[in-house]
This record gives sequence, structure tokens and C-alpha cells, in this order.
Amino acid sequence: MRATAYHEAGHVVARHAFGFAPTEVSIRRDGSGLVRGGATTKRPGEIIIIALAGPVAEVLAAGARDLGTCRGDIVYAMRVLDAAYGADRADEVFELHAAAAHDIVRARWASVERVAEALLAKRRLSGRQVRALLAS
Ligand SMILES: [Zn+2]
Repeated sequence: MRATAYHEAGHVVARHAFGFAPTEVSIRRDGSGLVRGGATTKRPGEIIIIALAGPVAEVLAAGARDLGTCRGDIVYAMRVLDAAYGADRADEVFELHAAAAHDIVRARWASVERVAEALLAKRRLSGRQVRALLAS
């Protein structure tokens, strides 16, 4: 549950870094999480970074060594990446975006923690609650 909260907080904070706020974020009893609604970026690079920021935050919070537990986000990022940049540069471009996601999450770790801890306490945060946490 803690890993999921940090995972979703990573997505939220990265989205916010590109100027987009979520309308709602929640974690379910089964341990899955969801960031719902609102406008989001159409730029492939930002989409990829937002997708990878969840796994990155989860790894940083849990001390795990790889992103293997977050297959859905990785597969999605790779699909966007292939479509935007071509498969022949995929590895190189993936590394660049993973590094960018890392930088964004680390630079905003206090925000990631605030959102994650509030999520653990409440299980569901409205867009307004998330914005208040990101602003503090
Ligand atoms: Zn995710």
C-alpha cells in the first residue's frame, strides 16, 4: 500500500511539474492506484516522463532496484516512445526520459511524500486537496 501511494504520488507530482493537476487520486484496498481526470500533456516526452515518474517514486520509496514491478507504466512509456521516436533509438531515448523522471521526482521529493502520506491516511484525495498539498 505504501509503495502504491508513492507510485501514484510520483505520477501526480510529475504531471504537476508540467503544469497539469489531477482531479482525483486514490488507492484501493487491493493495492492498486489511480490518477483520474483533467487535461494532461500531449507531448510524448512529457507523457513518457509522467508514466515513468510513478515507478521511479515507488522505487525510491521502497528501496527496490528496478522498475520491474510497474510493468503497465513501462509498457505504456515504451509504446509512446516507439511511436514518437522510432524503435531504433528506443533504448537511448528511454534512458534519457527515465533520468528526467528521476530528476523531477527527486527534486520534488517533499511534495511526493506529502501526497503519498495523505493518500495513505485518506485513500482518496480530491484535485483541490492535491493542489493544496503541492502548494504547501
Ligand atoms: Zn503507474
